[in-house]
Amino acid sequence: MGKTIGIDLGTTNSCMAFIEGGEPVVIPNSEGGRTTPSVVAFSKSGERMVGQVAKRQAVTNAQRTISSIKREMGSEYRATIDGKHYTPQEISAMILTKLKIDAEAYLGESVTDAVITVPAYFTDAQRQATKDAGKIAGLNVKRILNEPTAAALAYGIDKEEPQKVMVYDLGGGTFDVSILDINADVIEVLATAGNNRLGGDDFDQCVTEYLIKEFKKEHKVDLSKDPAAMQRVREAAEKAKIELSGISETSISLPFITADKNGPLHMETTLTRAKFDELTAHLVEATMGPVKQAMQDSGLSTAQLSKVLMVGGSSRIPAVQQAVKRFTGKDPFKGVNPDECVAMGAAIQGGVMEGDVKSLLLLDVTPMSLGIETVGNVFAKIIERNTTLPIQQSQIFTTAANFQTSVEVNVLQGENPAASRNKSLGKFRLDGIRRAMRGVPQIEVTFSIDANGIVNVSAKDMGTGREQHITIVGSSNMSQEDIDRATREAQQYLLEDAKNKRQSQENNEIEQLIYRAERAAGKMGIGDKLRMTEMIRKVKRANKDQDTAKLKQACEDLERALKASGAEDQDAQGGVK
Ligand code: AMP
Repeated sequence: MGKTIGIDLGTTNSCMAFIEGGEPVVIPNSEGGRTTPSVVAFSKSGERMVGQVAKRQAVTNAQRTISSIKREMGSEYRATIDGKHYTPQEISAMILTKLKIDAEAYLGESVTDAVITVPAYFTDAQRQATKDAGKIAGLNVKRILNEPTAAALAYGIDKEEPQKVMVYDLGGGTFDVSILDINADVIEVLATAGNNRLGGDDFDQCVTEYLIKEFKKEHKVDLSKDPAAMQRVREAAEKAKIELSGISETSISLPFITADKNGPLHMETTLTRAKFDELTAHLVEATMGPVKQAMQDSGLSTAQLSKVLMVGGSSRIPAVQQAVKRFTGKDPFKGVNPDECVAMGAAIQGGVMEGDVKSLLLLDVTPMSLGIETVGNVFAKIIERNTTLPIQQSQIFTTAANFQTSVEVNVLQGENPAASRNKSLGKFRLDGIRRAMRGVPQIEVTFSIDANGIVNVSAKDMGTGREQHITIVGSSNMSQEDIDRATREAQQYLLEDAKNKRQSQENNEIEQLIYRAERAAGKMGIGDKLRMTEMIRKVKRANKDQDTAKLKQACEDLERALKASGAEDQDAQGGVK
């Protein structure tokens, strides 16, 4: 059995780790990076790129480059490339596939099992979508683990004395906060809260908008209509933001960003940390609502917290750290690597499940309440938020009209008392209810949330004892059929990609052989030269005709003749002298 790897599938970057000798170790990607940009791109010829190579070409290929796909997980969004529509699951699967292949190359064995992390505040649809992405990438997703919980696992694995910690996790596109109780062999999440659409990307956006506005003021040119210019401005905005975490003023220089009738225009400006803080103060403030709510739900006071762990790249922003310190009265703890600890925690969870790591009980919670819509747009909660997982609750349903034989149930996730203001996980219809006066039939519907935070529903007619299988079909999620098709396509792509790579390597070898032969022929007498030229011609012809058998034979003949001629040896000796 292969290793279970832990994957932090991030908005901006992804990271993977495995357990070696009982300890989590980061797996570098094939380029040697410890994190991989979560970017997918398609070249003009349709070639697929993932990671650093995709990120690097984003400016020149903005419309065929997909970043921050995590923000669209569980939504109806589709990336359209060359007329083909890709779901967020399929794009995420491309990132996961690269990670899987790189991990296999690094570990020297096949990787089939993974623990993948998600923001604690991800909804059921987003979790399901993440699990499906894993499946499409050929991974058996053993657990969907909450990111702050994973970070706490990485931090808490070797802690002997009990402690209560806050994990503040501000990544590229999501924000979560969790309060945990860490003991030697039990890690219990007391409360969690967050915002699925708040992260470093929003800070970049504020700076981008500011730069565009200033540029327009100065040059009367609106850059927002130019995708390539926008990509450059966005990258410069992120770079400036990151620099401002370390210094108090930075310069932004984008030569030839556009042109007007007088010639090229350049963006040359400076941004101070004070201005950056002013532009983004509302975002920092937006994280404090969930922080207060999680604290309140945990039943603890800030004085009871031993540590505040800062996770996610955006937690490095000084204004963020100051806001957290102001609220908790504690200096953020710097002993965890914000970019790697989530993947390490995921690897630990994989290790616990496989018995490679000491037994550790992880008690996580559901971030949102689960319930159904009842008459008058009322949200009836069945499982309250912050309930420890896994959990199962049942509710008896009946009919509202005489002789009604079916009821429709709208399953909701959220906190708003108005049903319509919560996220609908989907609706299901209970059929086959025995004809009876209203209120008589009794159908027990069981709602459960598993350890992955994924919702399941089943129903039982109490009169007949008959069980009914219920599938909630969320409108944004892929059907089983679609997942199977995408999985097949992903495998097919891998086969074709391997074939193309092999082909291009073979072409390379043939070209080299021809080059060597032509060089050698140049030093031969006329007779040998003619023979050699004829053999080269045969190789070229067979290659052009794509006649594999002839090509193989022609290459072997040429290689043999080349060796026998000794012309290359003279060449090599010449080189040494
Ligand atoms: P993550 O999803 O955890 O990889 O976080 C990525 C986000 O963190 C991106 O928006 C980055 O721009 C941001 N980030 C990384 N390093 C820094 C830094 N030193 N200061 C501010 N933001 C950063």
